[in-house]
Amino acid sequence: GATIGILGGGQLGRMLAVAAARLGYRVHIYDPDQGAPGAEVARVATHASYGDEQALRAFAQSVQVVTYEFENIPPAALDLIEAVVPIRPNRKALATSRDRLDEKTFLHELGLRTARFAAVDDAEDLAQALTVIGTPSILKTRTMGYDGKGQARILSPEGAEAAFAQIGGRAAILEGFVDFDREVSVIAARGLDGSVAAYDPGENVHEGGILRTTTVPARLSPGMRSDAVLAAARILNALGYVGVLGVEFFVTPRGLLVNEIAPRVHNSGHWTEAGCLIDQFEQHIRAIAGLPLGDGKRHADVVMENLIGHDMDRLPDLLADGAQIHLYGKAETREGRKMGHVNRIRR
Ligand code: ATP
Ligand code: MG
Ligand code: MG
Repeated sequence: GATIGILGGGQLGRMLAVAAARLGYRVHIYDPDQGAPGAEVARVATHASYGDEQALRAFAQSVQVVTYEFENIPPAALDLIEAVVPIRPNRKALATSRDRLDEKTFLHELGLRTARFAAVDDAEDLAQALTVIGTPSILKTRTMGYDGKGQARILSPEGAEAAFAQIGGRAAILEGFVDFDREVSVIAARGLDGSVAAYDPGENVHEGGILRTTTVPARLSPGMRSDAVLAAARILNALGYVGVLGVEFFVTPRGLLVNEIAPRVHNSGHWTEAGCLIDQFEQHIRAIAGLPLGDGKRHADVVMENLIGHDMDRLPDLLADGAQIHLYGKAETREGRKMGHVNRIRR
């Protein structure tokens, strides 16, 4: 049997490992963290840093394909791995999505609409960008942000200095604030043979920058629904992508804007565990292993709710309530930490 390598053993790596095992693959996870949730379920977990060349080479040599659960992997580590074994999704997908400026530029060049944006390297750039983009606007670090971290709102030009300080004065992008009606996302996959399958768009509610719930079907006109799916397919094809991709959109009265893309399984796709025969995790493993994709068909209306921090106190009630439970096995409950999620069929 073949062995699949996964960079990152957080909850997404863990769920990918379980899906791979179900398809009969062995799994090796690479994560410097001894206590990573994924390390519990993989046959071999490598607890070495991303700077450890020997460990990276040994990892690459022990698997037939490498995938990943996050986009901030040091490029030098990827170079070492790629010299030995294919990385799927490819380097272009990673490079494009790890930097918000490159990402927005790519989307713009593809003909997809985004919030207005400008590059900000220093205070002078920010003042200049504010004259073009205006306020309210959002300043975001170009790299490493997630769950709304590394972002600061700017309500008036006087707030520029504080916002730049808040994000640590790092290379950034200024985005015009989008007054959206709602947020939706499309989870889609592209196989090794170039075939594309998309799941129905889900409607996402965030709280404090963290995804709270995803509901399918999303409230979208038929036209916007196909716009969203076609945008995801266009991104997959342009990147020569293999695997599952998440695309986040803002729904506005004037149509859809793309917010960001994630070159991996996505939190807003967890509903597929309850709503589809082949969920996003199996779909991703199928794609990177060169197997035929599932068709993405949805057989139920689902609400996915993240269990964040002390939401875990509600676990007994949720269990008694018949919700589908998925816990990540994290030892310590901390505020703002994603501990698991539940899926409910909507009636
Ligand atoms: P994720 O955890 O989804 O990766 P992230 O930290 O990468 O999040 P974004 O998705 O860019 O950050 O932003 C988080 C949330 O902040 C968005 O889902 C949206 O609610 C809000 N937001 C981001 N950019 C804008 C914008 N330009 N206008 C209005 N709201 C925005
Ligand atoms: Mg993001
Ligand atoms: Mg996001």
